[in-house]
Amino acid sequence: MKRAVSTLRSRRAVGYFCTTTSSSSPAAASEAWDGRFRLHKLRGQHLLTNPRVLDAIARRAALRPGDAVLEVGPGTGNLTARLLASPAERIAAVEIDPRMVEAVTARAAALGLAHKLTVIEGDAVEVEFPEFDVCVANIPYRISSPLIAKLLFGPYQFRTATLLLQKEFARRLVAAPGDGEYNRLAANVRLVANVRLLMDVSKRDFVPMPRVDSSLVEIQPRAIAPGVDLHEWLAFTRVCFGQKNKTLGAIFKQKRMVMELFSRPRRAEEHEDGAGDIGLGALDDDVSDEGNDRSRDGAVDFSAEEVGAFKERIAGALESAELAGKRPSKLSNDELLRLLRLFNERGVRFQ
Ligand code: SAH
Repeated sequence: MKRAVSTLRSRRAVGYFCTTTSSSSPAAASEAWDGRFRLHKLRGQHLLTNPRVLDAIARRAALRPGDAVLEVGPGTGNLTARLLASPAERIAAVEIDPRMVEAVTARAAALGLAHKLTVIEGDAVEVEFPEFDVCVANIPYRISSPLIAKLLFGPYQFRTATLLLQKEFARRLVAAPGDGEYNRLAANVRLVANVRLLMDVSKRDFVPMPRVDSSLVEIQPRAIAPGVDLHEWLAFTRVCFGQKNKTLGAIFKQKRMVMELFSRPRRAEEHEDGAGDIGLGALDDDVSDEGNDRSRDGAVDFSAEEVGAFKERIAGALESAELAGKRPSKLSNDELLRLLRLFNERGVRFQ
């Protein structure tokens, strides 16, 4: 059996976390908030303290013997304790706050399960994750989008990610085309994964109580490669969903848009492909193309005829897709992919 290399700073069993006397669940006795730290809201430090919810998350993650688990933001280890007690073989937990690194490390030691835990001190958006089969986490909500981007568009292969997210974010993540909440995030995630809502969790189950409720979501990467260049797809959905309430016809008629797309193939040559290159945090639709004038350089040497012909190619693609009158938020990924292919066939690229 592999033994986790631990960054244990202190193997002292800390009294606060001593759970050996607990009967039914070895972890349950220890999640009461002990007031030992000042918790930082900016770091999303809201500890999940309801034992039933913690048990439910561990159960829904359906860990199997031999599994390598990734946890992001273990905090004092309320969820980690369940993961350690599960059939999983090992847990790697990425935690940014050294005080929490120490706390979760000490807690694993107190449970006699330190050999199953590796704590990586660092920013989960930045560090390289070890290989894992399943990700289970109550994450700091502000990194939801970049973390999901990293999991799904990074170099990792895993079975499922069971994540506790802000309720509104979770709703947007599982939205379907045509839903009021459908958006770029959902379209991008749907390209590569199936997503489902598992349960809602009240803000009262956290200490300190956050302002928002939460939802547990399961993300299951799909085995089939989508057969599309991910850089291009992400750039394409950025354009479409940047103004998701306009029709595609209106979006692609704007002079600014035409000029930007026209100048893109040149800039794309400077751009190397590769999964690591995908802008993390680029999944969401809160960054609109409005006001993004990067592409101006070079525009001056285009002739009016060239631009006019390019405009026609864009219109042609929309016409043959019969999508000019549709809004991006109503389109399935199949329709978006079809449109992207028609654009590409006419030399219109998104990079
Ligand atoms: N999972 C624990 C704690 C949740 S609070 C529980 O359910 O009780 C969120 C945790 O994520 C905190 O411990 C915080 O320090 C940590 N954190 C915040 N930003 C992080 C980041 N960028 N990378 C890794 N950990 C982070």
